Amino acid sequence: MNLTPAQRYYLQTIGIDIFVSRDSNAESLVVPEEQVLVSSAPYTGGNEEIWNDLRKQVAVCTRCELHKGRTQTVFGVGDTNADWMIIGEAPGAEEDRQGEPFVGRAGKLLNSMLHAIGLKREQVFIANILKCRPPNNRDPRPEEVACCESYLRQQIALVNPKIVLALGRIAAQNLLKVDTPIGQMRGRRYEYPGPRVPVVVTYHPAYLLRSPREKRKSWQDLQLAMRIYRESK
Ligand code: SF4
Repeated sequence: MNLTPAQRYYLQTIGIDIFVSRDSNAESLVVPEEQVLVSSAPYTGGNEEIWNDLRKQVAVCTRCELHKGRTQTVFGVGDTNADWMIIGEAPGAEEDRQGEPFVGRAGKLLNSMLHAIGLKREQVFIANILKCRPPNNRDPRPEEVACCESYLRQQIALVNPKIVLALGRIAAQNLLKVDTPIGQMRGRRYEYPGPRVPVVVTYHPAYLLRSPREKRKSWQDLQLAMRIYRESK
């Protein structure tokens, strides 16, 4: 792999050791440096009104019990025209305070993971399975997911991404309607039912902070996602 200085930096940031392959013909699975630094494209879609309506619906939603404990809903953030959609589980305490998904240490690690494959945070769209914080960061309940899932379905349909990266077991299982352990879901291409978007599963950044040894697997997942993305173009 011929890593650029920028890719080396971000791989080191997320804790991936860099090894030089003896196979000089090995295909590089990361994007060239010039793609790392491109600015995010302005929103050019024709769906602003639909997005605004959806935002308003979510902001006042009381479909499930979680509305009672939230500071605010966490709708999602990023480029509504993005090729990549990143889907996590649910807001944590900091996300609930700031109204944005993946902030804090896990958010910083996610940003570094994205940079490692040549993407800036503002070039992807980031959302969660649930838009409100479950108390004490407990797992989402099936009835909460069922109440909330039409919002995410609409977001996926509107963004119309070329690939979805599911972060963590909860996101992956609920998105794909399976109960397979996450270790068995990694390394495979799934398809999101409906718009038939390819889905790749990897570990949640919060888990990677607790289990840094798994970062290497996460890097493999990102490479797989990039390969599938490129094939889709
Ligand atoms: S979690 Fe979803 S369904 Fe439940 S109140 Fe929040 S926005 Fe509504």
